[in-house]
Amino acid sequence: MGAYTFALVITQVRAGPYTLRGVSIGGVYTSLHVPELDVLLDVGVSLRPFAAVGRWFLSHGHLDHLAGLAGLLNIRGLLGLEPPQLYLPAEIEADVRALLAAHTALGRAALEVEFVPMVPGDERPLGRGWSVRALRTHHPVPSLGYEFLRRTLKLLPEHVGKSSDEIARLRKSGAAGVFETVEQLELAYATDTLARVLESSPTLLASRVLVIECTFVGDEKGVEHARRKSHLHLDELAAVAPRFANEAVVLMHFGQATSPDMTRAAVQARLPSGLRERVVVFAPEGDRWFEVG
Ligand SMILES: [Zn+2]
Ligand SMILES: [Zn+2]
Repeated sequence: MGAYTFALVITQVRAGPYTLRGVSIGGVYTSLHVPELDVLLDVGVSLRPFAAVGRWFLSHGHLDHLAGLAGLLNIRGLLGLEPPQLYLPAEIEADVRALLAAHTALGRAALEVEFVPMVPGDERPLGRGWSVRALRTHHPVPSLGYEFLRRTLKLLPEHVGKSSDEIARLRKSGAAGVFETVEQLELAYATDTLARVLESSPTLLASRVLVIECTFVGDEKGVEHARRKSHLHLDELAAVAPRFANEAVVLMHFGQATSPDMTRAAVQARLPSGLRERVVVFAPEGDRWFEVG
């Protein structure tokens, strides 16, 4: 009898002011928690620590992004928590409802979510000045990316330097144009998509933090292969490197055929300086996606 260990390796990285923790392996499972925003990006696997997160964002219905939905709802029910909000492409709402209805029938216990169907361009408030906007990604099934943004009031330049009393007086007098509303793109998520998403949604390149898929990184499965599979290749990001204005770019959804260390090496070798330094590889330390010993 030999020992056999399998562990789901949870990765945690920092990207700008945000933390991303979870797992992401193309075709296997992706689920990322951003604690600062208290959002869950995809539910490819039901990770017990994520059950308490109140807002879940589904990119599309492929199982590596969806398979954990029912399990995580079940755990959430055990914790006695309210149904979460599930943001998802409007085209798949009916199918996800049918899926949960089947689970409800099988388990004789209701699995409930608050559906928030979205189409590209839709925006929904998240509270405290935050909102989320859906964007079109390019994949063979209905799919969305999400941009999390914050609107804040900023003093107009002509009032900068004035005392707080003076500002208060201006506001009270009803003077127009004391403040302007500034929209800050804070974190964007685009997975399972062709590189074309950077053309169709160029605001991705301006988000403070961009989380974007990079399923293929090597020569064996090159750019043409990636495009055929409706995914993105590292070389396609390298080709437009000067356009990334992000503080940090998190690459995720790597294929399991390339080990984490090989993936990091490819990123170092193929991305030009200027972008390379801002890139965070979302992969476990070491050379294995799954810890087996
Ligand atoms: Zn996927
Ligand atoms: Zn997919």
